[in-house]
Amino acid sequence: MVKLKDVYPLYLNNKAEQPNTDLAVTDKFTGEVAFRCAQADAATINAGIAGAVEAAEPMARMPAYARRDVLQHCVDRFTERAEELAFALCVEAGKPIKDSEGEVGRLIDTFRIAAEESVRITGEVQPLDISPRAKGYMGMWKRVPIGPCSFISPFNFPLNLAAHKIAPALAVGCSFVMKPASRTPLGALIIGEVLAETDLPRGAFSILPAHRDGADLFTEDERLKLLSFTGSPGVGWDLKAKAGKKKVVLELGGNAACIIDHDADLDDALERVIFGAFYQSGQSCIHAQRIIVHEDVYDLFRDMFVARAKTLIAGDPKDRNVFIGPMITEGEAKRLDGWIQAAVAAGAKLLCGGKRDGAMLEATIIEDVPRDTDAYREEAFGPLAILSKFSDFKAALDEVNDSKFGLQAGIFTRDLFKTLDAWDDLDVGGVVINDVPSFRVDNMPYGGVKDSGLGREGVRFAMEDMTEIRNLVIRRL
Ligand code: NAD
Repeated sequence: MVKLKDVYPLYLNNKAEQPNTDLAVTDKFTGEVAFRCAQADAATINAGIAGAVEAAEPMARMPAYARRDVLQHCVDRFTERAEELAFALCVEAGKPIKDSEGEVGRLIDTFRIAAEESVRITGEVQPLDISPRAKGYMGMWKRVPIGPCSFISPFNFPLNLAAHKIAPALAVGCSFVMKPASRTPLGALIIGEVLAETDLPRGAFSILPAHRDGADLFTEDERLKLLSFTGSPGVGWDLKAKAGKKKVVLELGGNAACIIDHDADLDDALERVIFGAFYQSGQSCIHAQRIIVHEDVYDLFRDMFVARAKTLIAGDPKDRNVFIGPMITEGEAKRLDGWIQAAVAAGAKLLCGGKRDGAMLEATIIEDVPRDTDAYREEAFGPLAILSKFSDFKAALDEVNDSKFGLQAGIFTRDLFKTLDAWDDLDVGGVVINDVPSFRVDNMPYGGVKDSGLGREGVRFAMEDMTEIRNLVIRRL
């Protein structure tokens, strides 16, 4: 039986420190304080940034095999501590235990991919003698680490979204400071505990849960060369405006759509859509919020979907049978509850769910939803699915695009040409065929367009952002 500690330290310049126990973190199901951890003030954050600046050069000089060994150490230790890590997520995020185990698996994947990629950072030899003026010249370019990085991560994947910043940074040789989400800091702190077992240069990493007032330093300090932020669109775009000269990567929200065409295997699509719509109570940026179904199969699919949603067990996320746990706060559940009620008042039909008890909101399906409602237009980030009907595939693609967001889209179809049309025409970061938009593995390029963000994660793609190209020109004498 895993037990969490009462108190956890922060990590400043590679070392565990316990300046206070200011941050009380609750068990999201019971609402009771599960543990306390240290919180960094502005002076501590400044010390972490100064350490990261000092460590930039030794990090950049670390040989590839040493970077790979650090990442491999993490893979080994996370594997040994998998049960504890999953339990930590289950408590601090209210994430059902099976989903928590899934996230630990992905954490291990992300570090494993980074270990492999860390020894494959290559460049190119380029002929420059493209005109008589450059006769005798050749060029070569390589990638060099961008320098000290700033990372800010959200509450909903406390381990793996921290990993998507930390592992690529270590793979390329960047030092970093990270601010994990205050509601779920433990995932990142345990990564810190494991990194503290390695011999990374002092200052290579600081993991600092922080007060809101000190948090500006993660964005505004000019010594930091890159800000990688994952979180809500409002905060992300605001931070970009304050980030000064540093490179900015934003992984933000969405209201992803999924098309089910008339030739889809409905039984197969049903299980995937149930997952996409209600997995971790819909608190995923690629949650399948809008389900657009061909008119020939609409009634059948709707009835199957509603019947299946009613079977989902809600309750204590520590119970292995539970599929729907709490939302992160009662306030968030109230917000979405309000949007559902407003949509129904505006003419939408409630097919199932719609009841709330504290932070627990039932798996809810609505249809005939006016497009000007918050439920349709905004990011639900909760267990809500909206059904609509289409007859023409092109119109369904237009409906997917009728959003200020553009993260991923899913299409259930057997038609190659519709696949290619969707890939061409959907204004999103990724199209998933025969699965929900919620599908992600950790080596693929991942990110959004429009309000959903800027740049891509996925280990290799994040590594590119964390490097600069340095060119070499040689003139033959
Ligand atoms: P949030 O924006 O409230 O917080 C994200 C992080 O930013 C937290 O660490 C928070 O403490 C910090 N933060 C908030 N205000 C700040 C400020 N002024 N200065 C510095 N840091 C600040 O988001 P959240 O509620 O934790 O996460 C949910 C959001 O994240 C959703 O919109 C979801 O779609 C998005 N998300 C996106 C992805 C992706 O990869 N695209 C993945 C997961 C979550």
